[in-house]
Amino acid sequence: MWFWPELPKPSDFDAFVRDGRKKIANIVRSGRDPTSADFDPEWRAVSERYKPLFVTHQQTRCGYCDRALTDYGALDHLRPKASIAMLDPSNPGREVAGGVNRMGRFSRSTLREAKPGYWWLAFRWSNYVLACTQCNSGWKDAFVARTADTLERFEGACPSRCCDEGWLVLHPFASERTGEHFLFNEDGSVKGYSPAGRATIDVVALDRDSLRRARKDVVKDALRVARRFERLIESWTKDEHWALDEAQEALIDLLDKGKVDRPLASVVRAVTEAHLQTTWIELEALAKDLAQMPSV
Ligand SMILES: [Zn+2]
Repeated sequence: MWFWPELPKPSDFDAFVRDGRKKIANIVRSGRDPTSADFDPEWRAVSERYKPLFVTHQQTRCGYCDRALTDYGALDHLRPKASIAMLDPSNPGREVAGGVNRMGRFSRSTLREAKPGYWWLAFRWSNYVLACTQCNSGWKDAFVARTADTLERFEGACPSRCCDEGWLVLHPFASERTGEHFLFNEDGSVKGYSPAGRATIDVVALDRDSLRRARKDVVKDALRVARRFERLIESWTKDEHWALDEAQEALIDLLDKGKVDRPLASVVRAVTEAHLQTTWIELEALAKDLAQMPSV
């Protein structure tokens, strides 16, 4: 997961969604829970009008898995609009060959426990993110993470208290670092460092086989260059002056692999930071310092 800066709300957004908000509020006032169909055609119009902004902002990458979109993707509601269902950690589902489907996520108890969603966030700008079809509808769907607090806590959520429900899935538009929440292994698998990281992995299925395969070479490549950089710096500190130029080249190579416009840059940065026990910002600063050192 890559963390993007917030995408500013367009000045015409509130006016554009006024009718949709009013319609949903009226349904709730009448005593009925809005269903998925109730949000259209207004939601479809929102998606058509504003999705291109998210595509540009997120550089055509999925907000969850950080891969380049291979199809049109979708504007996802981070907090599901029509219904929510608790993810059963003992039954997270498995990927079917080809990585286009899931098995076992839904069970009778899941469906029985499904509750109305965050209808009041359906037309809220801050609740949107561009996601690939697999992350969005293939896995995340209407699921939320099961925590020590159970569904009752979510039932307590309401328009005026929506921040109290213990929501865990990370928002891709936040000032966070991937490495604070996720640990990527050489086989491409991912583990959560933080409760939010673990919940995001579970709900969006970020440890699924197809993502492991996509990340494996990226992780190995980043580690290969990071280790080389480490060895060269060690040589340089032992007065082997020749190593400085090569260390500089390795660092430039590493920084290039984790550039902001690279799919899976989040993985490169997290792996590098964990291995070198530093931050990306510090590495960028180091590259500038090394560039100013006289070569031998
Ligand atoms: Zn994705």
